Amino acid sequence: MIVGVLKETAEHERRVALTPEVSAQLVKQGIEVWTESGAGLESNFPDHEYEESGASIVSDRNKILTGSDILVTIQTPDEEEFKKLKKGAILICLLWALQHPELVKQLRDLEVSALGMDFIPRISRAQNMDVLSSMSSIAGYKAALIAANELDKYLPMMMTAAGTIPPSKSLVLGAGVAGLQAIATLKRLGSVVEAFDIRPEVKEQVESLGAKFVEVELGEEETQTEGGYAKELDQKKQDLQRQAIHEHCKKSDIVVTTALIPGRPAPILIKEEMVKDMSPGSVIVDIASENGGNCELTEHGKTVEKYGVKIVGPNNLPSQLSLHASKLYSKNMYALLNLLLEDGKPNFNFEDEILLKTTVTHQGEIISPMLKNG
Ligand code: NAD
Repeated sequence: MIVGVLKETAEHERRVALTPEVSAQLVKQGIEVWTESGAGLESNFPDHEYEESGASIVSDRNKILTGSDILVTIQTPDEEEFKKLKKGAILICLLWALQHPELVKQLRDLEVSALGMDFIPRISRAQNMDVLSSMSSIAGYKAALIAANELDKYLPMMMTAAGTIPPSKSLVLGAGVAGLQAIATLKRLGSVVEAFDIRPEVKEQVESLGAKFVEVELGEEETQTEGGYAKELDQKKQDLQRQAIHEHCKKSDIVVTTALIPGRPAPILIKEEMVKDMSPGSVIVDIASENGGNCELTEHGKTVEKYGVKIVGPNNLPSQLSLHASKLYSKNMYALLNLLLEDGKPNFNFEDEILLKTTVTHQGEIISPMLKNG
């Protein structure tokens, strides 16, 4: 069994799918690991560490594509590349299959078994494979640091001989995995933090981190799906929410936005007129930027200044912490491989909910019910 590891080629992608530590674990189980030369460099894992783990360093990318039984990557390889995989090969990466139906059909027709790391169900048993949580947590942490860096102010209260400086005020919108980590990081840096989420369930988690939960009356209707994700609000409720947030934005030095709704564009929580009312020098870091953004004025991949407010639309935040992001992704990958491999061979046991939901294509069929149910 050969596990291939490619050097990522997508713009802004600095992570690697398998670290030397996990490579050593696989080699110990009798698996051959082929790592493309330089694959780990941007995450500070030089080739010699892979060699020491027992992996082979391969400089010919084609050899890895055509020879691997299991190819592990972060981003989906380009079409010309995944077409080179042998029939029956297994590809494991972030596929974002719901957003790329054509890709799914191609992988099915090529008879590649494709597993989407982003399709791992958010259940307790799959926690050690939950790449969405590992990466969101990094994104939340990094967003708080970017905000602190962009702000022309101290975050903590400072008592100086020249006078006392009050602590900065931060507002975090969306308190899922990323939002909670942003709250924790801003608190550690000494900011006074408020947070809001349409799922009232998270109030307790926000408060346990020492932040204040902003209450918005959204009525009795359920705002959460059975899977624990947020539902899209109707127009009236969105307006109500924005009115409430408007007042809190005015008072905030930092706003970190993280609100997402699966399969939908990110909800607009901050309109232009709300930015206009914010203090000059304040900062918005919009983690939802890749999904359209939570602020109307966000420009993805850029930092822009509008009405004196800096608005950051960051690119691939997990990649900016590439060493730890790679370590966590790789450990999540290892846990999934351990579930998939039995006596060193793949066993697609679809009685197992994790394998069923994560397997996008197998033996010329589309498997995951996440795709079959539309
Ligand atoms: P996400 O990235 O889909 O969304 C981020 C946050 O934005 C969510 O908290 C969501 O409620 C919020 N949001 C959406 N619309 C909003 C709006 N209009 N205003 C304010 N906030 C809005 O979420 P996530 O971080 O991936 O977490 C989703 C769920 O999965 C949570 O319930 C989480 O507890 C759960 N989860 C479970 C496990 C597990 O059991 N293994 C692991 C991780 C996450």
